[in-house]
Amino acid sequence: MTEVTCHCGAVHLTVPQAPTEVTECNCSVCRRLGARWAYYTPSEVSVAQVGSTHPYVWGDRMLAFHRCRRCGCVTHWQSLSVQPRMAINARMIDGLDWTKVRIRQFDGDKTWAYLETPGGEAHIA
Ligand SMILES: [Zn+2]
Repeated sequence: MTEVTCHCGAVHLTVPQAPTEVTECNCSVCRRLGARWAYYTPSEVSVAQVGSTHPYVWGDRMLAFHRCRRCGCVTHWQSLSVQPRMAINARMIDGLDWTKVRIRQFDGDKTWAYLETPGGEAHIA
């Protein structure tokens, strides 16, 4: 199990395994948050402290971004559509070995496609 916590510890989630791949998205929200998203199915994620988050929903109302009411860290998002999707902000994982994580750039601003760097795997540290 891998722990995902905000800075103050009020929001606490667990996922079955640490991510091996994360997505950095350049859409208007994600680039401001500076989050690195790791995708899981909602059934894989246990949210121990869901009452302490403040959800942010905007635009087409597809996703709710959850932040800690106390320290302000954005810990995860959850889809509001019928398709169950969820992502945790991998920056909330203490001790994650980033040398083992592939960081993919997603163009959520314009094309909704992954922007692969020349040579493909260049983002693997
Ligand atoms: Zn907090």
